[in-house]
Amino acid sequence: MARVKDAVCKLCRREKEKLFLKGLRCFTDKCAVVKKPYVPGQKAKMRLVESEYYAQLREKQKAKRYYGILEAQFYNYYKKATRKQGITGEVLLQLLEMRLDNVLYLMGFATSRAQARQIISHGHVQVNGKKVDIPSYQVKEGQEISIAEKSKELPFIVEAKESAGSLNIPEWLEVDLKNLKGKVIRVPERTDIKAPINEQMIIELYSK
Ligand code: SF4
Repeated sequence: MARVKDAVCKLCRREKEKLFLKGLRCFTDKCAVVKKPYVPGQKAKMRLVESEYYAQLREKQKAKRYYGILEAQFYNYYKKATRKQGITGEVLLQLLEMRLDNVLYLMGFATSRAQARQIISHGHVQVNGKKVDIPSYQVKEGQEISIAEKSKELPFIVEAKESAGSLNIPEWLEVDLKNLKGKVIRVPERTDIKAPINEQMIIELYSK
């Protein structure tokens, strides 16, 4: 499984935005974006004029980091979005949002998308009662996502469950936290997707 290897808090500081890559720490005062609200590195501080291309590039980098995806895979999502009906940018976000790892995180069964990827690839997750160990699996309307019975008492799952009470579950998902299962009610609309991403800038970058 491909992974983003950079120090995760630096990725957020680079984008000057919380990307929520480190689980519960992201919601505390220890968050590096709160403690050091400036871009790391001297060169970046000196970059006073940012071109349109640079801004588009940063937006793509931010999206990749937010969802924990590497370049080639991200580009494949873009190509797939261009082949589907609808506004390409919105379709791109829908594809990313409906990855199984993202859905697991949004449902509160993992404290970060990175942890969700681990939980899935270690075989703790089921879709409609069958094990799925592919984090990029695209969930579909009507599918039920659950934590396997044998995995429900694992410490990291219990920790996620206990901290999930404060989460705002998106309206396109239905969650039964007590039984660690949930359902995809519908495909998310743009207004459902809270990712701090300007998808149009990414489309403009790839369209050059
Ligand atoms: Fe980003 Fe979380 Fe680190 Fe804050 S604590 S910088 S949101 S990964």
